[in-house]
Amino acid sequence: MTLPGGHADLTALRDAIASGTARAEEACAATFAGIKAHGAALNAYHETFEEDALARARAVDADRAAGKPLPPLAGVTIAVKDNICTVRGHTTCSSRMLGNYRSPFDATAVERLERAGAVVVGKTNLDEFAMGSSGEHCRWGRVANPWDTGRVPGGSSAGSAAAVAAGLCAAAIGSDTGGSIRQPAAFCGIVGLKPTYGRISRWGLVAFGSSLDQIGPMTRSVRDAALLLDCMSGTDDRDSTVADRPPTSLAACVERPLDGLRVGMPRQYMSDANDPEVNEAVAACADAYRAMGATIVDVDLPLTDVGISTYYVIAPAEASSNLARYDGIRYGHRAAMRPGDDLAALYARSRAEGFGPEVQRRIMLGTYMLSSGYYDAFYKRALQARRRIKEEFDRAFAACDVLLGPTAPTPAFAFGANDDPLAMYMCDVYTVNTNIAGICGLSLPAGFASRGGKALPIGVQLQANAFEEERLLRAARMLERAMAPRTSANAPAVHA
Ligand code: GLN
Repeated sequence: MTLPGGHADLTALRDAIASGTARAEEACAATFAGIKAHGAALNAYHETFEEDALARARAVDADRAAGKPLPPLAGVTIAVKDNICTVRGHTTCSSRMLGNYRSPFDATAVERLERAGAVVVGKTNLDEFAMGSSGEHCRWGRVANPWDTGRVPGGSSAGSAAAVAAGLCAAAIGSDTGGSIRQPAAFCGIVGLKPTYGRISRWGLVAFGSSLDQIGPMTRSVRDAALLLDCMSGTDDRDSTVADRPPTSLAACVERPLDGLRVGMPRQYMSDANDPEVNEAVAACADAYRAMGATIVDVDLPLTDVGISTYYVIAPAEASSNLARYDGIRYGHRAAMRPGDDLAALYARSRAEGFGPEVQRRIMLGTYMLSSGYYDAFYKRALQARRRIKEEFDRAFAACDVLLGPTAPTPAFAFGANDDPLAMYMCDVYTVNTNIAGICGLSLPAGFASRGGKALPIGVQLQANAFEEERLLRAARMLERAMAPRTSANAPAVHA
């Protein structure tokens, strides 16, 4: 499936605009026509900026006509997850708590995309405060999967994934704390990159788990992911956790295959609990790598299943602290005063009204686990597990260059199928450790499962050690090319 106008991906559209074979305004108008036609079916966007986007696209066309040099993303449409601050419109985190919030500043990532010429089309829906794996827990209604609108798109970057898959933008950005870019990318048949912690500034990303959160690209191709990473990465005085490294320049090298690639396959990833079609797709990818001359190495990651319990201590602990600021006084939704209310009652009611049930659950879990007497039993132990998980990855990466496995144990599930919170948490069993260890990971399409006559995308995950994005993306591009005959066999039911 191509973007409106027949362009395969953002890079192709960008090249067409730069060479004058496509006009940015036309591409932008076609995007909004798609959003109008399919917006109701998918609910990918909370808010769109049509007039503004068209004006920016026209300015790109004018610059080109005047012979001015165009920046690397000139005229391409980008969607922004609604927990990433934009001056334009609202930044709601899909929460009643921030239902009216307007950010006075742009996130660094957004500022850099716009400086590179990108046209921001709108803000996409997410699981409230990025807590969730399905796109069902959103103040503005659930998001649907373009491949089967009876199924979830995955989460929490639900709207960004659905919008990219359905051609309602050329690419999007999301955030990933434990899998929120990669799992919805897998469910929607697109590419999702969680960069190394510290690769992209978190300035303007509403904090969930500050030691885990990263912004990253959600795209139609590996080369698009490389290009967006190039445009967003690099140091930023406003975020002291950004690594002191220059921006990447991977778009230029991503087409080059890696010689002597060693692909590690962790035993623990090919679990019998996975959907058999998922395991089959991973095995097909291993075969494809073998056929390209790569070596497949068996590796052991015994702490894989410790990830979820570690994550569900660290992430809620950090969330309880980050979300303490929403008190209804300085920040966030304020409940109506009732006679006899004191300040504590007002805080309590504002937070009870403003936060949905999953967010409340995380705040309570986190507060409990940080409280005196429990801190050592939970939080301290989780930090010890975190260290060991990181060491385990380091050992694995001594024997291989990238790790291959499933992104999620199953393809997209039906709405309501994972209402039990623990079942929902298990969706992230293969993705949380990437964040816990601070390394990089990417999901890319590898084939399809069939459910009731419908094709559902399957994603596979590649992981590489910290700051090894070049290796990760080049290995991913090799696989993307090899798997193309399989991955192009079906198209989403809903597409612009
Ligand atoms: N699904 C995980 C959670 O609910 C991860 C979310 C994320 O990466 N933002 O916390």
